[in-house]
Amino acid sequence: MPLKQLILNGFKSFADKTTINYDSGITGIVGPNGSGKSNITEAIRWVMGESSAKSLRGAKMKDIIFAGSQSRPPLNKAEVSLVFDNHDRKLNFNNDQVTVTRKILRSGDNEYLINNQSVRLKDIRNLFMDVGLSHDSLAIISQGRVDQILNSQAQERRSIFEEAAGVLHFKQQKETALKQLEQTNNNLIRINDLVKELE
Ligand code: ATP
Repeated sequence: MPLKQLILNGFKSFADKTTINYDSGITGIVGPNGSGKSNITEAIRWVMGESSAKSLRGAKMKDIIFAGSQSRPPLNKAEVSLVFDNHDRKLNFNNDQVTVTRKILRSGDNEYLINNQSVRLKDIRNLFMDVGLSHDSLAIISQGRVDQILNSQAQERRSIFEEAAGVLHFKQQKETALKQLEQTNNNLIRINDLVKELE
């Protein structure tokens, strides 16, 4: 499921619609300081479900919308799409191409789409988690992340390997199932109490 295209529109310094094509092999993006290289990886993380404005170097999520410059006014909307080649059907969709889109308005409202169909943030996260990826994934190594990994605690490092092995998704499913079991047990206790009261 190679990434074929990244389309940015109104995201941070990308006020105009910008399409980046990823051909086979390595794609390098070069530019002077402050030209928007990091903004590109942040855009990818954002579509993949990043919900922390701080990790995108903002105070609020709507800070990622183009804030205006000397020559042009701010925009009211940011939109980013990731286009994947899905001939190998690694992404759980029966389409040769899968497009994942996220939009945000100045009001703070977000919209998530897969192949132009409205979905929940959870669906996007699950889509990527099924292939061992997440917005926090080590497939994307931002500045300072190498130091962070080298200085991390054993438990933290373990989760890195779990994610790479694709275990994280099952771990989260297990946690959800355990919570449901606990809830069911509590309900059973309550029903037993009621039955006893009625006897
Ligand atoms: P470096 O090589 O120094 O790491 P870079 O090429 O990675 O730089 P970025 O950090 O991606 O550059 O881009 C920073 C630029 O993005 C700054 O000029 C900043 O003003 C601009 N920028 C960030 N958020 C917005 C926004 N919401 N609207 C407009 N411009 C923004």
